[in-house]
Amino acid sequence: MNTPSRRQTHQVKIDHITVGSESPVVVQSMTNTDTADAAATAAQVRELSEAGSEMVRITVNNPDSAAKVAEIRQRLDDMGCNTPLVGDFHFNGERLLAEFPECGRALSKYRINPGNVGKGAKGDEKFAFMIRTAAENGKAVRIGVNWGSLDQSLAKRMMDANLASPAPQPPEAVMKEALIVSALESAEKAVALGLPEDKIILSCKVSAVQDLIQVYRELAARCRYPLHLGLTEAGMGSKGIVASTAALSVLLQEGIGDTIRISLTPEPGTSRTQEVVVAQEILQTMGLRSFTPMVTACPGCGRTTSTVFQELAQDIQRYLREQMIVWRLQYPGVENLNVAVMGCVVNGPGESKLADIGISLPGTGETPIAPVYVDGERKVTLKGDNLAAEFLAIVCEYVETNYGENGRKRDRSRIIPIQTA
Ligand code: SF4
Repeated sequence: MNTPSRRQTHQVKIDHITVGSESPVVVQSMTNTDTADAAATAAQVRELSEAGSEMVRITVNNPDSAAKVAEIRQRLDDMGCNTPLVGDFHFNGERLLAEFPECGRALSKYRINPGNVGKGAKGDEKFAFMIRTAAENGKAVRIGVNWGSLDQSLAKRMMDANLASPAPQPPEAVMKEALIVSALESAEKAVALGLPEDKIILSCKVSAVQDLIQVYRELAARCRYPLHLGLTEAGMGSKGIVASTAALSVLLQEGIGDTIRISLTPEPGTSRTQEVVVAQEILQTMGLRSFTPMVTACPGCGRTTSTVFQELAQDIQRYLREQMIVWRLQYPGVENLNVAVMGCVVNGPGESKLADIGISLPGTGETPIAPVYVDGERKVTLKGDNLAAEFLAIVCEYVETNYGENGRKRDRSRIIPIQTA
């Protein structure tokens, strides 16, 4: 598959993760627990990590939260979870970092919003303190500008200059430019304060798709810092997923974006991990990364009158994703597996032959049999009420044979050596 070449950036190391053009696009997420509740926050970080989040941001908004960051890190280490933690600071970050130095040491990266640091000389002092703390601790910083909290003094300065110019731009264009200038000027200040360029990541989040694309294209053209992509306040359900996908896909296709987060509002009762799944699926369907075996399924139509086919497609998808917690270590390369679940013989055998393993269920009026294809060849024909279990057994056998110890599809470059004492 042809994939777009990435925009060249500095490489930013965040513990064992590298963010930049020489590394795969990194998936991030953010907790919604109270950080002061160390047990709940550590549990959610672990859950997000197991779902595939490679970095997790936690809010550090008050002394109770800052006091628990080191404990959260320790709890995660004790669970064997080494996912880097990013601290999200607003308004009082310098005070929290000063009062709780262990918090600054336990975090792997700080997110600083220049619009929420403070105004004038006082704001400059607070920003400088946070940057110096990051530099002393050897931590990376994301300078994260947000449309909803843009530095008002900068916006005013640029608006005034625009009004005084002979050919004023529309206010919206000036505001977009102000977002970019805020990120770039803050990065410049951070470097002058002693933070190396390869410790800086930038983001300029807005909530409208076309604005995000425009802002990031411009930001990408003006610097070599890695960029964190995300549509802020994307929303809930399909609207949030579609808007984020639309915006991020355009940018990723242009090689822009080194780390992504999908800012979904979880529907009541749903897992926070959905934002990780969506981020992975964007990257995987674009051919940029592989995370979990893909299930190709037809939409179904009047030829499929029962729900057997929908249930099988759903069961297989869920099963494969759940197995990845274990499989990603046991069967390197299994994330490239393709499984087809098709509703009838119209396209069923054709798609099944193209996949690694495919099943074509009987449509209305067809003989009640389900041919299974393995590596393009018809291997077996299933019938009866136990189709799902029998098909899953064939998938598991295929995984063991092809991605196990001596499997021909095993990705040997990804085998993680076992650490010995
Ligand atoms: S493969 Fe068969 S069941 Fe599925 S959409 Fe096509 S015609 Fe309909």
